[in-house]
Amino acid sequence: MLEKMEILDVEKVIRDFEAMTKDAENVQRETLKLILEENGCAEYLQKLGLNGRTDPESFKACVPVITFKDVEPYIQRVADGDLSPILTGKPITALSRSSGTTQGKSKYLPFNDELMKNTLQIYRTSFAFRNREFPIENGKALQFIYSSKQIKTKGGLPAGTATTHIFRNPQFKNAMKAMQSQICSPDEVIFGTDFYQSLYCHLLCGLLFREEVQLVSSTFAFSIVLAFRTFEQVWKELCADIREGILSSRITFPCIRSAMAKLLKPDPELADLIEKKCSGLNNWHGLIPELFPNVKYIYGIMTGSMESYLKKLRHYAADVPLVTADYGASEGWIGTNINPTVPPKSATYAVLPNIGYFEFIPLKDNIEKHLPDKVNDYFLSVEPKPVGLTEVKVGEEYEVIITNFAGLYRYRLGDVVRVTGFHNSTPELKFVCRRNLMLTINFDKITEKDLQLAVEEAAKLIGEEKMDLIDFSSHVDVSSDPAHCVIYWEISGEVSNEVLQECCNCLDRSFLDHDYVNARKINTIGPLELRVVRKGTFQKILDHYLGLGAALSQFKTPRCVGPMNTQVLQIFCDNVVKNYYSME
Ligand code: AMP
Repeated sequence: MLEKMEILDVEKVIRDFEAMTKDAENVQRETLKLILEENGCAEYLQKLGLNGRTDPESFKACVPVITFKDVEPYIQRVADGDLSPILTGKPITALSRSSGTTQGKSKYLPFNDELMKNTLQIYRTSFAFRNREFPIENGKALQFIYSSKQIKTKGGLPAGTATTHIFRNPQFKNAMKAMQSQICSPDEVIFGTDFYQSLYCHLLCGLLFREEVQLVSSTFAFSIVLAFRTFEQVWKELCADIREGILSSRITFPCIRSAMAKLLKPDPELADLIEKKCSGLNNWHGLIPELFPNVKYIYGIMTGSMESYLKKLRHYAADVPLVTADYGASEGWIGTNINPTVPPKSATYAVLPNIGYFEFIPLKDNIEKHLPDKVNDYFLSVEPKPVGLTEVKVGEEYEVIITNFAGLYRYRLGDVVRVTGFHNSTPELKFVCRRNLMLTINFDKITEKDLQLAVEEAAKLIGEEKMDLIDFSSHVDVSSDPAHCVIYWEISGEVSNEVLQECCNCLDRSFLDHDYVNARKINTIGPLELRVVRKGTFQKILDHYLGLGAALSQFKTPRCVGPMNTQVLQIFCDNVVKNYYSME
């Protein structure tokens, strides 16, 4: 039994949140003051001439808006072991590796105790609001979480994904306990170095604690879908393990085997029950509540690039609520989901005004989208001035700029958000897309969001044939004259040529960008090409990134593959089984 005092006082968390968001402007001022007082002695700030000033006006006048490449040399020095105050007053204790799947290249970013504190605050806040609507009691959580390989930098700093730092921190477990969301799986499974072995054991642990599981979660929804797609393949093996009480030989790590041996006892009754339930399902519809009868909701980031997995997730979940998790990045947290009953497609995130200092670049007509670096720099110099957290306007789109407690000052995150309203005086943001992620040939600009909408529309046609789109990506083929857009699709089964041809036409038709439409009319952009890839191709893409050190917990399928990403393009190229050109 949990001690009463361990349980989070959710009403207090909500009261604090309400008080803080009623006074967002002052809280932002105070937060900036705190950041600058703690780090004013850092070399980065020293040379900008703030001279101890901590007000937003001086900050904006002295400190430039930057991108990763501006701060990279400083982070490199930290990584190499320079202990002087470079970016922060106190030494940076770890580096976070961003997933690198959206931009093709992963980045190392500073991580410290303050970011850990922010993480816990955001977890607690969204939990408090969630628990009002979907209370959970002293149960367990089936969390598909994974750690990345942790390396040591030249200077001896641990470097791994931000989620790895979080999961490894003892405070994470305590927080999960206080939120009555203790993870079913032992540490050996979470920190296993083979993701597939960990996934298998997560599933097995979930089944062993099936009655106690009250929530199923992961950082990004992708991992939940991957887990249950894998379950479809391995369920008989899982049942055999439960029946015999002996772990499958596919698990080879002795530490995982011995941790699992403590949980696994022969249980033929449970094995029979799961087999019966699985055999009774129609195409795995409602698998999650069948396996976990007390599950209250499914939780993970479900917006942005994760929206394409919602259909499959809904299929597995039947009518169990899908609740999107918070909004953040390796660079820091931004907002929390305080409206958990809102479906993920319409979900927004309320900014926590004390976890960083936030600014927003207005994106009137999305002026520069994706141009060569030099031109981009020029446009940046004429771009509208960033506005403060409480100055944003409802209905407008912005790029987020973050100043955090770990040495990033006025850092462009590259995410586009739309302000949908205010909670007290803090804005609620809808995630729109990554700013620089797009298909572009001439002046056309097909954003990640445009691509997602077009794919959703076209995928309805294969949905009518009872097939799923497993995943998708794209790139620009400049080897043809004129150049054209290529969309890669992996489909769950066979679909006729006629339907796929129509999907291809529909994709082309659904790109509504004015310049794209005009260029297609005069054929300065060639017909869109749909390339259907072999089943398992996107798994190979995932394996490729895992091999490079990415972690499943933060993985996002690259939606637009750049020309330099030759290995990923090669994987696609090697696996094309059919292709179609738009006849629009
Ligand atoms: P990473 O590079 O692995 O740190 O991933 C951070 C990025 O994931 C953010 O910059 C966003 O583009 C995306 N992301 C994080 N949280 C959300 C969310 N709640 N909704 C949509 N996208 C998100």
